[in-house]
Amino acid sequence: MRSVEEALDAILASATLTATEWLPLDRCAGRVLASAVIIAATDVPPFANSSMDGFALRAADAPGKLRLAGEVAAGSGATPPLEPGSAVRIMTGAPLPPGADTVVPIEEAVESKGWVRVPASPAGTYVRAAGLDTRAGDHVELPAEPLTPAAIAVLGSLGIGEVEVRRRPRVAILSTGDELVPPGQALGPGRIHDANSAALAAAVAEAGGEAVILPIGPDDPAAIEGLVRWGTAVADVLVASGGVSVGRRDYLREVIERLGSLEFWRIRVQPGKPLAYGLLDGHPVFGLPGNPVSALVTFELFVRPLLRAMLGLAGDGRLRVPVQVEERIAKDAERRAYLRVVVQGEEGSYVARSAGGQASSQLRALAAANALLIVPEGEAAAEPGRTYDALLLGAIR
Ligand code: AMP
Ligand code: MG
Repeated sequence: MRSVEEALDAILASATLTATEWLPLDRCAGRVLASAVIIAATDVPPFANSSMDGFALRAADAPGKLRLAGEVAAGSGATPPLEPGSAVRIMTGAPLPPGADTVVPIEEAVESKGWVRVPASPAGTYVRAAGLDTRAGDHVELPAEPLTPAAIAVLGSLGIGEVEVRRRPRVAILSTGDELVPPGQALGPGRIHDANSAALAAAVAEAGGEAVILPIGPDDPAAIEGLVRWGTAVADVLVASGGVSVGRRDYLREVIERLGSLEFWRIRVQPGKPLAYGLLDGHPVFGLPGNPVSALVTFELFVRPLLRAMLGLAGDGRLRVPVQVEERIAKDAERRAYLRVVVQGEEGSYVARSAGGQASSQLRALAAANALLIVPEGEAAAEPGRTYDALLLGAIR
């Protein structure tokens, strides 16, 4: 049985970068730049401009009473040079006229009948110099993470209208089990609704991928083989769930073994011990456990980092924080546990309590949790008063 790290190393070893594509800037939210470094073609701002509504003047003329010689608005083109002893009304973002080197805000000036009285104002006051944010030729390095609104604003300010981004990894989702019925359809005797297809598709999207949901697969080796082939034909990665354990009707592992190569099928992790991973024509294929909690937690631990690696991103993109446990939460002593907890409190003194039942079928505890509490192998429980790392999945509330 592999440790979490051994399993993840093997998975990441098969990651290949997706190809790139060009997108208009307004369609690249959450996408990942092919290169995090951009060479600025222009100064930002491109010209010296006022950061206040007020009066532009020569610092050498202040304090004093200056003749009001006109007005410059944002977007004004070439403006006449400013004569000594005069000032112009200027709006925020308007270019400083040649000769002007300082701005006195409207609130600090007294205007009357074509004249304006200004206090002393050292050169550069309320002036945003050309290139203050970025100089032409600068190497602008953005964080190697999905594009945020702020990063997109930087690209926009640099005049970049189209960006080269990584194609989203395409992930085929395959739920297997004779008992499964799509949500929205009535249940027959012995049937349950498929909780995994839509949930795993959402997790794929959250990790930066694009999901293709396949029809639910029956517990039949030939049918599963057909669906697995379908998935690897249309997608970069296949994420199946169910049918990977040691039950008499668990066929997925055998299908991966037959069509490709099975790398491993058990991990010392709770939830999620039975997890098959292999390669089929170079495509990573996961057989996640069918229990929805196990499927989603193992997706978080093993599939999400792979999708990020295919986008050129490191790690899982989550925060880990130390938290003190308030109550005993039992676990399997052999395996590392990722317990569903609610983390609360202030930074430096976070506390955690169980988000609900820890059985791998108890989905509502996962939905209620904002973190997974990481309790090491060799311990039979998370003990009250002790501190563990928690992997944050959501906001602390
Ligand atoms: P399996 O991994 O096929 O042995 O399934 C383990 C448990 O998870 C069984 O109780 C299944 O009914 C349940 N299960 C498997 N797939 C799903 C699914 N897509 N949605 C909800 N429950 C599932
Ligand atoms: Mg099953």
